[in-house]
Amino acid sequence: MAAKYVYFFGNGDADGDESMRAELGGKGANLAQMAKAPLSLPVPPGFTITTDVCQEFYKLNRNYPEGLSAQVDEYLAKLEAAMGKKLGDENDPLLVSVRSGAAISMPGMMDTILNLGLNDKAVVGLAKKTNNERFAWDAYRRFIQMYGDVAMGVDHDKFEAIIDEVKAKAGVKEDTELTTENLKEIVEKYKAMYKAEKGEDFPQDAKKQMWGAIGAVFGSWMNPRAIKYRKLNNIKEGALKGTAVSVMAMVFGNKGETSGTGVCFSRDPSTGENVFMGEYLMNAQGEDVVAGIRTPQKLSQLEQTNKAIYDQLCEIRDRLEKHYHDMQDMEFTVEEGKLFMLQCRNGKRTGAAAVKMAVDMVAEGLITKEQALLRVEPEQLNQLLLPQLDKDAVKKAIEIASGLNASPGAGCGQIVFTADEAEAWAKDGKKVLLVRKETSPDDIAGMAVAQGILTSTGGRTSHAAVVARGMGTPCVCGCADVAFKDENTIVVKGKEYKKGDFLTIDGATGRVFEGQVAVKPAAISGDLETFLGWADEVRNASVRTTASGKTVKGFNVLANGDTPQNAKDAFRFGAMGIGLCRTEHMFFDEPKLTAFQKMIVSDTTEQRKENLAKILPYQQKDFYEIIKTMEGRPVTIRLLDPPLNEFIQAESDGAAAALATKLGMDKAALVAKVAALDEHNPMLGHRGCRLAITYPEIYEMQVEAIARATAQLDKEGVKHDVRIMIPNVVTYKEVEQIRAQAEAVIAAVNKDCGTSLAFQIGSMVEFPRTALSADKVASVADFFSFGSNDLTQTTFGFSRDDYGKFINSYLDQRVLEDDPFATLDADGPGALMEIAEAKGRGVKADLHLGICGEHGGDPASIALCYKIGLNYVSCSPFRVPLARLAGAQAVIKASK
Ligand code: ADP
Ligand code: MG
Ligand code: MG
Repeated sequence: MAAKYVYFFGNGDADGDESMRAELGGKGANLAQMAKAPLSLPVPPGFTITTDVCQEFYKLNRNYPEGLSAQVDEYLAKLEAAMGKKLGDENDPLLVSVRSGAAISMPGMMDTILNLGLNDKAVVGLAKKTNNERFAWDAYRRFIQMYGDVAMGVDHDKFEAIIDEVKAKAGVKEDTELTTENLKEIVEKYKAMYKAEKGEDFPQDAKKQMWGAIGAVFGSWMNPRAIKYRKLNNIKEGALKGTAVSVMAMVFGNKGETSGTGVCFSRDPSTGENVFMGEYLMNAQGEDVVAGIRTPQKLSQLEQTNKAIYDQLCEIRDRLEKHYHDMQDMEFTVEEGKLFMLQCRNGKRTGAAAVKMAVDMVAEGLITKEQALLRVEPEQLNQLLLPQLDKDAVKKAIEIASGLNASPGAGCGQIVFTADEAEAWAKDGKKVLLVRKETSPDDIAGMAVAQGILTSTGGRTSHAAVVARGMGTPCVCGCADVAFKDENTIVVKGKEYKKGDFLTIDGATGRVFEGQVAVKPAAISGDLETFLGWADEVRNASVRTTASGKTVKGFNVLANGDTPQNAKDAFRFGAMGIGLCRTEHMFFDEPKLTAFQKMIVSDTTEQRKENLAKILPYQQKDFYEIIKTMEGRPVTIRLLDPPLNEFIQAESDGAAAALATKLGMDKAALVAKVAALDEHNPMLGHRGCRLAITYPEIYEMQVEAIARATAQLDKEGVKHDVRIMIPNVVTYKEVEQIRAQAEAVIAAVNKDCGTSLAFQIGSMVEFPRTALSADKVASVADFFSFGSNDLTQTTFGFSRDDYGKFINSYLDQRVLEDDPFATLDADGPGALMEIAEAKGRGVKADLHLGICGEHGGDPASIALCYKIGLNYVSCSPFRVPLARLAGAQAVIKASK
């Protein structure tokens, strides 16, 4: 027997359900679930062809698997019986929609065809049967347009041009004002145009139409728009089997003023508030609401005009939320006063809304804290930390218009009017604000690079709003005061703004301002604070056993921060300490730079020491402030890492002369020094602790500055937990030697200051040799910190500065699944980390392990670090909230 390819839903029954998302797609699975008990919602009947067929379709070079056609016939017969109508019947035709839907929702990315089954005769039958001639012809003209465009590739604009022409002739503005005669004329013109374009008549056979539509939906899985969407949303090709196709009896929102169609959300997807919201249009069909062609009415208005339907919707909203335990995005249609549900899914939401809903639903007893933590994508938190308009700046700013607050955050940029311009300008490094009448799926690349999006039509469920919220881009839509004058100019309340002028929008309030308004960083408070507090609880309470059999408790998040300002940010975002404080930048400010350069060009140890002594008080002050800010939390200071030639550069003759003068030396001597410092491969050169092997006085000075700063704080009664980290270690002997020198310096400071300070001294692990000899290193180091950038470079043999030339080919051809510098590679550096864990903790059972490379802020890498048994990850301050959540998710997922 052939595989089951088709599933039925409707009439209170279905042979699939929500557990079959992978096969039926999200839309098909939820239609089946809604149709059957216990929900038993009014869903028009239909059937769903599985995603397996889509997969086969592409395997078979765009052909259907055997047995499909017989199954479709069988289910079509079942649908016809359920409806008491037949597809293609000239007197009382069954009309269907043919809809797409993958397991992961991709709103608007693939194609849907409505009103299928109409032809020249059936339209007459439909008119008679419904006693509504205008409706029948409206349905037919919509069908020809959609089918022509989607299934047959006739340019959408060619249809629009015909409508516009007929509207102009009839002297009307809205589609709804067109008369039956107008619609008939449009149909005639559509058909003529179709014939001219395609060289054949518009298909009249309903079954042929249905198969054409099914093929178009499967074909749309690979259209450039859908491929781009998957790429932008990080959905890997092959992660999904494809799209399912649902063929479903039509219900009609375009039968007059007692009919309509709408979209609603069980909670506000922008703010997360527990209020029912949505938009609808009377006498409209399908995409009319979303397309932003007419500006829809608010759901609250429906309460006044049709209370019965509104109450029924409220009841459904409640039932669906209780069933799915999540916010629902629903599509409905009212046909002559009767309500039908056409879709429901977990609604997309902004980061702020995601957090608020998660926190609220825990309070309502709808979900557990752990479920709440899994509800929010770590990357979504970035939106909550989006800059907001500075309140004082807003007072002075000139507000020129306002629209709907569709996606929060402040966006300021130079205005452009097409997505292509947005892309081009952004490529040139400009910040752009995309201003459009409405947006369509073809605009997504331009939307992705914009600081904000402003549209003149469309509601909060329009394409622009939905996509902007998904991207976390600020958006104001339906701003009717924005008028498009020509391709370079918009007019707002009589004032012109040219392409390239600056505007600022506030997506949280819908306000639009002239020029550039100052923005301010956001803070962690309220729901976000509660939510991240839960994440901390989960991480702190975690216990796991590593591959080497060691038990590790807790999983911390620290930050990388080099300046007191970084440390303040890290603290504000909830970091439990500083995991990496780089010291190199501290030498780049004057007068430290000159002294340091003089140290580098010194000929004798005495001269070097003399110049280093000048830097010491500055370093001490830098350390003092960072340590103080962290209030007793760990501060891990890395001794100088980069090669010395980064500090002494003389690219031209003039530059050499200037530098020689500054350093008070002979130009020729300087040029000779520069040549001596030159390296072919500085990343593998004289840097890190190798400098301390040749010039011990550099690290000695740094250790003294650290010790003196700590002693000062100690005397002031300020808490401190300072750790010293040695970079670029390849052998335990480096650690042993540098440690002895450091301890001597610390002892001297203790003596001088009357303190009894002790510091943990640890080793970075950033080369395979260090990991492979971790047992020896652990015997002289108090902790390890994995420098995963260098570890990746040296494990792969990829230069981080040059791999851009080939990495995209690797990713496109899937030779590598992920960019190893973005996502920690389990088979390479990850495997070395596991070895280091086992060997290191074999010597010291409670050896503290952390990571301080870029990977510390990447969710997938954080999960790997948890698995390996690290005590903490350290990342840039702005990624700390994300890492707090991603770490908790790793804990929860590992315990399942
Ligand atoms: P998308 O995935 O882009 O939302 P849909 O398949 O949901 O596409 O369909 C687009 C529009 O057509 C939606 O507004 C939907 O409610 C409407 N629609 C789909 N099928 C029917 C139907 N059988 N009767 C009435 N309207 C329909
Ligand atoms: Mg839909
Ligand atoms: Mg390094």
